[in-house]
Amino acid sequence: MNAPNPLLEADRQHLIHPLHHPTDHREPILFVSGQGALLRDASGKEYIDGLSSLWNVNAGHSRKELAEAAAEQMSRLAFASAYAGGTNEPAIRLAERLVGLAYANTKGVYFTTAGAESNESAFKIARFFWKVSGKPGKVKIISRIHAYHGVTMAAMSATGMAAYHKMFGPLVANFLQAPAPYPYRWPGNGDPGVEAADAVEKMILAEGADTVAAVIAEPVMGAGGVIVPPDTYFPRLREICDQHNVLLIADEVITGFGRTGRWFALGRWGVTPDLVSFAKGVTSAHLPLGGVLVSDRVQVAIEQAPGDQKFMHAATYSGHPVCCAVGLKNVEIIEREGLVERAAIMGKRLLAGLDGLRDLPHVGDVRGLGMMCGVELVADKGSKAPALGLGAKVAKEAMARGVLLRIRGGSADPAIGDTICIAPPLVTPEDTLDRIVTVVRDSILAASK
Ligand code: PLP
Repeated sequence: MNAPNPLLEADRQHLIHPLHHPTDHREPILFVSGQGALLRDASGKEYIDGLSSLWNVNAGHSRKELAEAAAEQMSRLAFASAYAGGTNEPAIRLAERLVGLAYANTKGVYFTTAGAESNESAFKIARFFWKVSGKPGKVKIISRIHAYHGVTMAAMSATGMAAYHKMFGPLVANFLQAPAPYPYRWPGNGDPGVEAADAVEKMILAEGADTVAAVIAEPVMGAGGVIVPPDTYFPRLREICDQHNVLLIADEVITGFGRTGRWFALGRWGVTPDLVSFAKGVTSAHLPLGGVLVSDRVQVAIEQAPGDQKFMHAATYSGHPVCCAVGLKNVEIIEREGLVERAAIMGKRLLAGLDGLRDLPHVGDVRGLGMMCGVELVADKGSKAPALGLGAKVAKEAMARGVLLRIRGGSADPAIGDTICIAPPLVTPEDTLDRIVTVVRDSILAASK
């Protein structure tokens, strides 16, 4: 037990954690080191990082080359402002690199330091675009129920999970949520891809297309329970956005940088977004960095705006040279080690292993794309009634067996089931992936006794 550790006493007294509640923090794990897909705590116990520490350390933990890139840049130029009139080499080179790796229409990058800030920036860029284009009334943002876009004020208002709103309302005006393409729980017999996209269109028409700036969507919903859309969804959504002059924002904070077996995820469906939010995997979490990739027409709007309509969006750390130097080295590692291709191949192995859990009475659905998988738990398979609380027990059992997982809690949204989210680092060895599958099985069995 970690309890007598004086550090943890100080933690309890002074440190406010994300999603803080003392009952969730009675026996916190004090992490002291990480390597590849493994984390180690203060007692020496080793854990497989089954969720890449929040879908994050794509190239694995504690990469020495990233530490060296940071140290080298920090000792030469730790910081200089990148506000218009100043710039630095790592930011320029990373921008150039990302534009080359992203979508065919990607032309520019605005750098941030986190996922929520990327989405906030994307919402503002969308509004800016329409104002510069002479359509100042286009301000509304449509997201989807079960979405997670971060929890700063506007990002929280786009996040489609009530538990994140309850103690912080009211939400920002002009944010709306449409149904998500959630095939496992889609009502009726229609194509959930087409029908969910059409539900977005209905909302655009009801609000008036001249009031809607953008639709934001995770290519695969992550925190909402790894919801992989039907193949029909994004092509139809793109059509709808084009038809009604609405920008499509892909929130690739999780799906970017190889997670789904592609550098960026929407290529799977042949769709190009107007804006792309990213963070996390761009540095494999070694330093905070994020950003928004913008299409050529958005880049032109920013570049050619008249002086009295300039892009007055900013952050001190936008284009931070050390974060960008680490991002650049991380992209080099992902490319050199073939981690994008590896995610596609190993993801199939992981999903096939998890698919074998369907024989368990409480496993309702198994889904995934690349190294991003979900196992949805149900009280019974016939009714698909959610198995509320079972997920937390499974996570506890898995932790005892040395695997860290995250549960998308049905208790946060009782209409749906607990989903075990599994997204290990892209470098995770085969036998470790197989071990995760075994532990998930054993943990579900133990938790459902
Ligand atoms: N968007 C998505 C899809 C996410 O999964 C997350 C975090 O998990 C965010 C945005 C928010 O990122 P951050 O926690 O860095 O603000």
